[in-house]
Amino acid sequence: MKMKLSEIARVVGAHYAVPDPVAPTVTGVAFDTRKLHPGDLFVPITGERDGHDFIGAAERAGAVATFVQAGHAPVSTALPQLVVPDPLKALNDLARYYLLMKVNPKVVAITGSNGKTTTKDMTAAILATQYHVIKTQDNYNNEIGVPMTILSMDTNTEVLVVEMGMDRPGQLDALSKLVEPDVAVITMIGEAHIEFFKTRDKIADAKMEITHGLKEDGLFIYNGDEPLLRERAKQVDQDQKTFGLNPDNILYARDIVAGETKTDFSLSRWPDLRFSIPMMGEWNVANALAAILVGRRFHIKPEAIQAALKDFPVTKNRTQWVTGDAGEPILSDVYNANPTAMKAVLNDFAEFPCRGRRIAVLGDMLELGDASAALHASVAAALDPQKIQEVYLYGDEIVALRDELAKKYAPTHLHYFPKGEQRHLIVALEDHIVHDDLVMLKASHGLHLEKVLQALIEGA
Ligand code: ATP
Ligand code: MG
Repeated sequence: MKMKLSEIARVVGAHYAVPDPVAPTVTGVAFDTRKLHPGDLFVPITGERDGHDFIGAAERAGAVATFVQAGHAPVSTALPQLVVPDPLKALNDLARYYLLMKVNPKVVAITGSNGKTTTKDMTAAILATQYHVIKTQDNYNNEIGVPMTILSMDTNTEVLVVEMGMDRPGQLDALSKLVEPDVAVITMIGEAHIEFFKTRDKIADAKMEITHGLKEDGLFIYNGDEPLLRERAKQVDQDQKTFGLNPDNILYARDIVAGETKTDFSLSRWPDLRFSIPMMGEWNVANALAAILVGRRFHIKPEAIQAALKDFPVTKNRTQWVTGDAGEPILSDVYNANPTAMKAVLNDFAEFPCRGRRIAVLGDMLELGDASAALHASVAAALDPQKIQEVYLYGDEIVALRDELAKKYAPTHLHYFPKGEQRHLIVALEDHIVHDDLVMLKASHGLHLEKVLQALIEGA
């Protein structure tokens, strides 16, 4: 971006008396001084610490100006200060102005309990075959990340693909109205944040807010395998398209072949084309279907979509294969876990070729609230002693799964370690795992299974 500070002051309603010709030019925006580039405007955001404490650091890093919250104690800095009632709101106002007045791209907004980043990356790769696309970096998907993404666009951007996260009602309403998407996508409804929302119905209600800013001639794309979304989509006036694995969707996949590092599938619409994505997991096929529908909206040819998906750049594939000390392959997914994803990964894992035993090491899924015990127990449906011969459970919440599994697993094949006994878990695994076994690890990050992974890789 490139804007005179005087123009920014006008946009955000801050008092700034310096006339245009002498006002400094702002070439970017930063709220974290470690990521600040010379020429940036600094936005002090108050979280655990008061962002105003970092204005000195921003100045040293080359900021040319800073927002300051009205009523804040005077800050000592030589930087020009734009005093605003709320720096975060000012950031959003500036982003909206920049989006509409300086760039005016088409906007694709993507939300969902899981699969946002993956769908965003797939969508951007498809659209980039024909357009100049800017997409959300990393996980910048909230009321700070979305305006930052907008302000990261160059002025010739044709399509903005933006990921939107939410953990409370009203958040997507604001983000959607900020960008006014041409296409709004909901990947799926899971159980993330159910501790706060209590029911999946309420999560679905909150996700639907992504349509609140949808342009009148916009398109709503959603997962038609989810009845909660089908029901709610009736209230949306704009055009709609559904995707999913069931044949009653406008776009659905068939003949899915799940590989360890790629997944292939076909579409009834173009039976001659075989599609492939460079990731494991049937759930990623659903994400790809959403991205394909977006691509078609922008008139990308099926062959170009197929080529783009084949090797699209994955931001961060949290599911990775590593090799343990005994030479055993380990499927590691230790950074997040929820019941939908855990069952999905187990279903694939159960089918991977293996000469020895399949061994699942599963830990607590956190933040599930009152539903926690029932949701942990529900994972039992994805564990078949014929296919996944050994199960190691670690944590406190997962006791509910142990109790359920005790109905079908012999005690010698079901191992449980309470939280705090990670050392014992590691020792048991190291004693037990041999070269021909196939191992998978999955839990919420709070369980720190990455330490177990590290131990398995390095050996005792
Ligand atoms: P975050 O909330 O952390 O931003 P996200 O919605 O961006 O997550 P991704 O980063 O794309 O999601 O995927 C995270 C994990 O969610 C994956 O590793 C996988 O386990 C699971 N997942 C992804 N897509 C789906 C899906 N469509 N259905 C169920 N689980 C999924
Ligand atoms: Mg994400």
